[in-house]
Amino acid sequence: MVSRWACGRCGFVAWTRDRSEMVDVTGSHLLAHDSDALSTSDFRVSWDCPYCATAKTTYDSGGAVAEFKRHLYEHVADRVADGTHVAERVNWDGVVRVDASAAGDEADALRTHFHAAAGLVVAVTPSPERLVRALDEALDAWPRRAVIVSTGEYDFEATPDVDFEGRNVEIVELDPRLSPAEVGETVSRILDDNHEPGERVSLEVSVFHQIVAAFDVERSVAFVRMLAARLADAGGVLQLYVDADADRNVATVLNLLDETIDLTVAVDDGQFVRRP
Ligand SMILES: [Zn+2]
Ligand SMILES: [Zn+2]
Repeated sequence: MVSRWACGRCGFVAWTRDRSEMVDVTGSHLLAHDSDALSTSDFRVSWDCPYCATAKTTYDSGGAVAEFKRHLYEHVADRVADGTHVAERVNWDGVVRVDASAAGDEADALRTHFHAAAGLVVAVTPSPERLVRALDEALDAWPRRAVIVSTGEYDFEATPDVDFEGRNVEIVELDPRLSPAEVGETVSRILDDNHEPGERVSLEVSVFHQIVAAFDVERSVAFVRMLAARLADAGGVLQLYVDADADRNVATVLNLLDETIDLTVAVDDGQFVRRP
């Protein structure tokens, strides 16, 4: 679970794993809204709070900024909610675009955040060993059921410490020649076979770039819409890991999916930030 703060003046939302990180997150953000409140003259730094009558002047510029951020945080501290989950933003039902490279470590914090809170995890990933390792390191307990769908053969030697006997994990190898419709059908069947009523589903798609590269824009859009509709029946969150800057076609597909995507989140140094 994470702490959450939503700015009252714009659409900014941030989630941090530790509440103490919120001092800097909220302070920096509020300072950006009121950068005029901080000024420098004659080697002295002054700040003048836009929310109350407090003002300070000092020669210690670094200290002044930190103090001002903490002061701004105090104004919103009671609006920081603890024990929340990013998926609550979409009521555990919708499509979340994650602006992070699917293959990078940075997204693991968000991946494990979603998977830890679900009963059924279905992950379509090009690097199943990495996902298994990330889950095993981050989670206190594995989800009730995890089905990891991969385009390659699982290398059990890459995760020697993971005891598969004690985990309810299935590794499904996907034929790379399958069409998006067939991949969708495979995922749909997995949901049918494994979902228990009322259970939260976390569906990770970390092969979005491969799908867009292998198929045309239209079929890629249809694939995501079909998965989203399929998941809407079960109740769960679909996460699309994308790096729109890396691929022009991916950016085009994402534009067409604008109505389908309910929330866009970026991962920044272990913190999660909503993108407008
Ligand atoms: Zn704001
Ligand atoms: Zn103040």
